[in-house]
Amino acid sequence: MTTKPDKNIRKPDTLLAHSGRDPAGFHGFVNPPVVHASTVLFPDIETMTSGGQKYVYARRGTPTTEALETALTELEGAAGTKLATSGLNAIALACLSCLKTGDHLLVPDTIYGPTRHFADTVLPNFGIETTYYDPALADDIRAEFKPNTRAIFTEAPGSLTFEMQDVRAITTAARTIGATVLMDNTWASPLYCQPISLGVDLSIQAGTKYIVGHSDVMLGTISASERAWPALDRTLSAMGTHIAPDDVYLALRGLRTLSVRLERHMKNTLVVVDWLKTRPEVSAIRYPALESDPGYTLWKRDFSGASGLFGFDFMAGTTDAQSTAFFNALELFGLGYSWGGFESLAIPVRLKGIRTTTTPDPAVKSARIHIGLEDPEDLIKDLKRALEVAFL
Ligand SMILES: *Cc1c(COP(=O)(O)O)cnc(C)c1O
Repeated sequence: MTTKPDKNIRKPDTLLAHSGRDPAGFHGFVNPPVVHASTVLFPDIETMTSGGQKYVYARRGTPTTEALETALTELEGAAGTKLATSGLNAIALACLSCLKTGDHLLVPDTIYGPTRHFADTVLPNFGIETTYYDPALADDIRAEFKPNTRAIFTEAPGSLTFEMQDVRAITTAARTIGATVLMDNTWASPLYCQPISLGVDLSIQAGTKYIVGHSDVMLGTISASERAWPALDRTLSAMGTHIAPDDVYLALRGLRTLSVRLERHMKNTLVVVDWLKTRPEVSAIRYPALESDPGYTLWKRDFSGASGLFGFDFMAGTTDAQSTAFFNALELFGLGYSWGGFESLAIPVRLKGIRTTTTPDPAVKSARIHIGLEDPEDLIKDLKRALEVAFL
């Protein structure tokens, strides 16, 4: 019997503040302890052999890892969550949990580059074949099915080019052949999209990005539907994945403020994007939360917000030297990979050779921008100056 209200009726912001916390279990302290451990002792051999003790070995879980897993499970509406050492590690392990020799995997052409690298280099060693599909496919993804298609990867919006996917149509089609659907939901975070409610089986986060939120930890998460959970739990336990307790704790701490951070990321991004729209040097903006974006309808249907990551195309005829001058002239925007922290970042996007099914215009030069928590007016000034320097 519990006197606590049903967790399922709590709203996401409330879950962010309360899930995974058990002050009564830790002498009243608000947060769980950071448990540094390997060995867990048993009081006697009977307890050791009965399987009755909650924690048995730190690799299998501690109060710290359990707190983060529980919070994510509730937020994702999942049957369970496993942690991984990075976002890419989460992707690799999620794939291994639902694929075996002889299976066929479908992956959108707009997938995060290192996911493609994993599918192209590791999976073939296990006799698993990958086909890259056009992310615009919805119910018509059925045409890509082979008798051995066992899993379908999705990612929305797509890396670098931000195409949305009809994840609902894809999960509906996948059900007809019993295939597992995986979704890399890093862009929206579990706050702005709950993949499992769209029919996804394995919902993946590069926790490195918005969950951690402070550019100081790498971590991945995989939350599973009822049907995908047993295999995920078994696979990750067998692979020996373990995340250092301080990193788990920092992810849990980041999670508590995810909602207020994301709200500001989105607000700032809309201000910057509105300004960029007026610039002659910019020919297109890639951000599904814009009504003019081709993915807007799907974003509106399935997502409750947008994050701070978007792309823009430089005007036709922009040279490499101009694009390089723009990035070099930025002062507030750091030049670096990853994103999701409190700071703004920019990288040039080169699509040549990284897509195999769709054909992005190789002449188009683009930027990927992460809008941080700075004052957007300062960010605009920085972008304006860099555009002026580059397009003098
Ligand atoms: C960064 C990223 C990853 C990988 O996360 P890491 O923690 O850097 O390994 C996976 N998917 C997407 C969409 C990402 O942006």
